[in-house]
Amino acid sequence: MPGKTRVFFIALVCIFVGFLILHHKNKNPECSSSGSVTVTLDAAALKDVHNIVPVAVIGSGPAGLSAALYAARAGLHVVVFKGGMPGGQLTGTSFVENWPGVGVARGPDIMSRFEQHVAQFGARFVAESIEHVDFGRWPYLLKTDEGKEVRALTVIIATGSSPLKLKVEGEDTYWGKGVSTCTVCDAPFYKNRPVAVVGGGDSAAESALELADGARHITVLVRGDAMRASAVMQKRLRACRNVEIHFNTQVRRITGDGSHVTGLDIENTKTQKHETLAVDALFLAIGHSPNTALFKDRIALDRQGYIALATRSQMTSMPGVFAAGDVADARYRQAGVASGDGIKAGLEAIAFLRDNGFDSALESALEDRYFTAETQAAAVKVPVIKTLAEYNAKISAEKRPVIIDFYAPWCPGCMRMMPVFEYAAAQLKNDVLFLKVDTSVSEELAKHFDIKNIPAVLVFKGGKLLSKSTEMMTKRQFIDYVKRFSA
Ligand code: NDP
Repeated sequence: MPGKTRVFFIALVCIFVGFLILHHKNKNPECSSSGSVTVTLDAAALKDVHNIVPVAVIGSGPAGLSAALYAARAGLHVVVFKGGMPGGQLTGTSFVENWPGVGVARGPDIMSRFEQHVAQFGARFVAESIEHVDFGRWPYLLKTDEGKEVRALTVIIATGSSPLKLKVEGEDTYWGKGVSTCTVCDAPFYKNRPVAVVGGGDSAAESALELADGARHITVLVRGDAMRASAVMQKRLRACRNVEIHFNTQVRRITGDGSHVTGLDIENTKTQKHETLAVDALFLAIGHSPNTALFKDRIALDRQGYIALATRSQMTSMPGVFAAGDVADARYRQAGVASGDGIKAGLEAIAFLRDNGFDSALESALEDRYFTAETQAAAVKVPVIKTLAEYNAKISAEKRPVIIDFYAPWCPGCMRMMPVFEYAAAQLKNDVLFLKVDTSVSEELAKHFDIKNIPAVLVFKGGKLLSKSTEMMTKRQFIDYVKRFSA
């Protein structure tokens, strides 16, 4: 190589290396998606670290609870952040008949027994969601939606997946006003009414079967020319006289009267013919997408957005971070599989701690700086009213605003809002009267107040309805919401 060319070539290499170094330095460590942190598990390295959690589990469905069960049973201090859907998708399922060894059982019952089982081994539960993670430095920082911060030595991600939306006109306008993804919550409000279900999988079949008991007519809208639901579910569906299945049909628009769904514009994709379907509600069952938004650019995801795992393990791209259940499983998406994967994640977290030198001596040295989950001691027991007469008696001489939480025991969203509601009741009990209505036993009250989706919170003052909300709120947001009426 001639001298000049060699100098030019060396300069070029220097510029490129310099660019690489600079780029590396500027890179936000939080955004690293590969395992580059240093794990030094000894008392000296952790001497200034507080709110330590040896095993932090994010999510409380079958995957999270199975992981917590194994880690807690191994004697580790485990904290489960219950998240946006405590108990996971099973809590939104009426009857489960393929949970091994149980026969037929109600989803919420399975999950509530499961939680008690895990708690027996000492795992702590926090009724909050993790809304920020920092995997750039170990121990990993987790922040909850109520502002709590913990430092986790290991993390098990079991955040599951969320129902997909149709993304058609009218969906957002009528969300919670006839458009729902929770049949088990809202089916009782559509007795003798015409409704539709969109989707062709097991969830759609299950939704239609759930509705078939009470609704007058159920139209199942399947976009292809066949359903993908299991043969047994399809057979049951065909046996229902009030269920009609439309194939090759897409929902193009959801229409309503401003306060509730009244119909759908549907299109037959073979004939391109449009028609209007008069329904009071549309239940979406078109699949799920993994809840990985929190982890994007922090750990490796696969092409479909699921958490990428090392072969035959629950290990993610970050050391000490494991994932299990639907958040990392595009293929099976079954509660039993999630549970098995959760057990593997729990065992791998135990092995990770042990392999890095976590022993009883270190545990004793760290114990007084452990994060101990706050119990619900601050919550109060909110009176449940069952009849209109009881309601009238409670509010007749009431000067304060009255806030009523309409719920049902098998509604996952309701179970998430309940601790939030009780927390606010404890904080603001002098300024506001808080009441609860279980819609599964008080049909009269649900009908009287025109409840069509739960959870629903209604605010009254002087007998006048001031506000109706079906939104999910954190404790902070709910306190602010209530204060608007009590000021
Ligand atoms: P699936 O992914 O199995 O099915 C989704 C359905 O929605 C498909 O029929 C799909 O159509 C359709 N779809 C997707 N997008 C649209 C859209 N934009 N418009 C119209 N239709 C759409 O999801 P599921 O929630 O039904 O099931 C998930 C997993 O959970 C599965 O493994 C299932 O077996 C399991 N499950 C098991 C149950 C049980 O055992 N009791 C109960 C419920 C679920 P297409 O077919 O054309 O793609």
